[in-house]
Amino acid sequence: MERGPEEATSVRPGATAAIAQPDLLPAPVAPTPEPRREETFLERLRTGLGKTREQLIGRLDQVLFRRGSVERVDLEELEEVLLSADIGVKTTYQLLSEMESELKNGASSPDRMKEVIKGGLLRLLTVESAPLDPDRLKPFIVMVVGVNGVGKTTTIGKLGALFGSQGKKVMFVAADTFRAAAIEQLEIWSHRVGADLVKHKSGADPSAVAYDGVHAAISRKTDVVILDTAGRLHTKANLMEELKKVKRILARECAGAPHEILLVLDATGGQNAIVQSKAFHEALGVGGIVLTKMDGTSKGGVIIGITAELNIPIRFIGIGEGLDDLKPFEPMVFVEALFNESGKQKVQ
Ligand code: GDP
Repeated sequence: MERGPEEATSVRPGATAAIAQPDLLPAPVAPTPEPRREETFLERLRTGLGKTREQLIGRLDQVLFRRGSVERVDLEELEEVLLSADIGVKTTYQLLSEMESELKNGASSPDRMKEVIKGGLLRLLTVESAPLDPDRLKPFIVMVVGVNGVGKTTTIGKLGALFGSQGKKVMFVAADTFRAAAIEQLEIWSHRVGADLVKHKSGADPSAVAYDGVHAAISRKTDVVILDTAGRLHTKANLMEELKKVKRILARECAGAPHEILLVLDATGGQNAIVQSKAFHEALGVGGIVLTKMDGTSKGGVIIGITAELNIPIRFIGIGEGLDDLKPFEPMVFVEALFNESGKQKVQ
């Protein structure tokens, strides 16, 4: 979110005292510049990724640098580190084979091997896809799916705040009618971020809510519609059938809708997130992923497994519970934050 005007005009406490006692007026001191928003975010991302860094990079360093030369690097140990960092089996073997060929080609140092891994991870995280662009159509309809507890409602609230801050008129549609609490939660978020809300009673047909949502959005000239859906166990076939029906209704009532199916996954679930993404993608065709709770988990490596196994772009990552804690995912920034606490080195 943009900084508020109060931050731009903030006065150091000492300055007020000086005005009250002109005799003691100190030499003018330039106010300490506020850190730029982006820097604050990078710092928070680095801190948030601390446990994943420990799990992946810390252990990689041990294997690569312990014996001092690349000839003695144990590929089996590397395999173990990569597998235990939740980056996925397929991805691990892809990286290992790159390292093997690097060794055959005479890689000269452990540092070089680390660069190979870093470059490999960046490549695996970079998925070619059209960006999520709500300016493309009006109303732009986003259908949000995911298992209960992953942070779906919070993500919808944060997205509403984000689009609202861009001057867009936002509407939430409470199509998770399975849990009464889900409708209430969404209502609270709608007040908090100033979004319109379309809801029915708990137990209503989710497709009927979706239908009303689309027509309300068209008549109110809404820019972005964010539709919440049920998330009881994804293995239950009737959930997927229900979601498919909602998707069909959206498509029938508004050309090309849903314009994005956004799957919310919880990074702390590790491999479970990959299993969920496969199930939802198979049933619905997911357009993008939001990975929540990246702060404070050692399982953040799963982000690599998800993009590598499914080739679905990560749109946003959640790094906290606050409104401002949802950030667009940028592979380069992420890899830098993961590998390098101080952010001084760059990916080669
Ligand atoms: P839902 O059941 O999928 O709708 O999940 P909720 O949105 O209710 O979120 C479940 C819990 O996860 C809540 O306590 C949220 O505050 C928390 N949560 C959501 N996103 C994040 C995140 O990025 N980081 C952290 N630490 N907590 C989050």
